Amino acid sequence: MRMVEIIEKKRDGKELNAEEIRFFVKGYTENAIPDYQAAALLMAILWRGMTDAEVRELTLAMAYSGEVLNLKDVASMVVDKHSTGGVGDKVTFVVAPTVAACGLPVGKMSGRGLGFSGGTLDKLESIPGFTCNLSVAEFKAQLGRIGLVIAGQTANLAPADGKLYALRDVTGTVPSLPLIISSVMSKKIAAGADAIVLDVKMGSGAFMKTLADAEALAEGMVAIGKEVGRRVTALISDMNQPLGWAVGNALEVREAIAALHGAGPHDLMEHCLIVAAEMLYRGGVAASPQEGIELAREAINSGRAWQKFRDMVSAQGGDVAYIDNPTLLPAAPIIEPVPAPESGYLARVQTDEIGMTVVAMGGGRLKKGDPIDHAVGLVMHYKVGDYVERGTPLFTLHAASRASYEESARRVLAALEFSPTPVSPLPLFYRRIE
Ligand code: URA
Repeated sequence: MRMVEIIEKKRDGKELNAEEIRFFVKGYTENAIPDYQAAALLMAILWRGMTDAEVRELTLAMAYSGEVLNLKDVASMVVDKHSTGGVGDKVTFVVAPTVAACGLPVGKMSGRGLGFSGGTLDKLESIPGFTCNLSVAEFKAQLGRIGLVIAGQTANLAPADGKLYALRDVTGTVPSLPLIISSVMSKKIAAGADAIVLDVKMGSGAFMKTLADAEALAEGMVAIGKEVGRRVTALISDMNQPLGWAVGNALEVREAIAALHGAGPHDLMEHCLIVAAEMLYRGGVAASPQEGIELAREAINSGRAWQKFRDMVSAQGGDVAYIDNPTLLPAAPIIEPVPAPESGYLARVQTDEIGMTVVAMGGGRLKKGDPIDHAVGLVMHYKVGDYVERGTPLFTLHAASRASYEESARRVLAALEFSPTPVSPLPLFYRRIE
């Protein structure tokens, strides 16, 4: 079989068969297929799409590119969650320890930054010493010992996704339904959880810009999850503005730490309670999502969720001094507010542009393997619907240089629209699909 023929077939809009998909995934994972051919196929998939049968094959080939964990010797029920990618999305840092603190083990495989969307692993690596590179044995041992683990793809766990994910990030091939479904679900299948809650983002800061596209993504992922015997719920949530206030690696870790102490931004706290509740419900610990909310709230208020997060950071090599005192986390040399250029109601946020601004500031990658500046980013001060007075601080930039500050201020201001008349606040969630 020749890779060029597979690329041409997809380029011409034809359906790939299982053998061709497996040939590509195996060859790319084993470095027998070069980046340029893989990138060409990804672009052809982005343009031509895939049938349900192709997506299923691709997902399973990626999941089985490494080990698929069986966690039954560690816990009888393990839950996982995954976001399809947003801006300011630090939900995992709050939700995973909260659920684990309720006695339900959480074993999670996360990703790095992808396009304009930040990555859980990059954010966690703001904590000096923290490693997401765990072997299968380490993943299982930590899950058994403290009931919480967040790891990345490795040579043994979903390696095909690790490679394809990094390539998609820098080749403009992220916003493709088949590629997102296979990326998310291959990791979820490989990590072995019994119940999975998918936080499917919709809006200007998501890969799916419309509710119809988000529904198609959610339905596709739920169907594959069910087919492989997992309990899956998808919650479609709003991503038409950053979640919480902070966007940027260390800034988001700081905000999540505040949330774990019960002092996070209102939208983030509400969002996290709903996702945690769904995990507790699908994992059989809560009799209903409503009861799940009460359990999650109590885990945060009692300090047990924070303690779980601290245990996980310590178990994965992180220096807890930095999370006990988050002012020690990486900080940018320039931290300055940008004043509102006009008075009015914040009406619209071009959220993907905010994410791309943080990437350009150094908070994400423009090329494969680029280093990340964990300190940079921004903190918003208003939500859609809020009235803003001209001249008051609209957002604060954390920049590496004066030039970056000026350029980022210009970009973010251009991404915000104001209205002279009142604007309704945005909802948090739209739909639940099971
Ligand atoms: N999260 C993933 O793991 N993969 C994607 O493609 C998008 C979000």
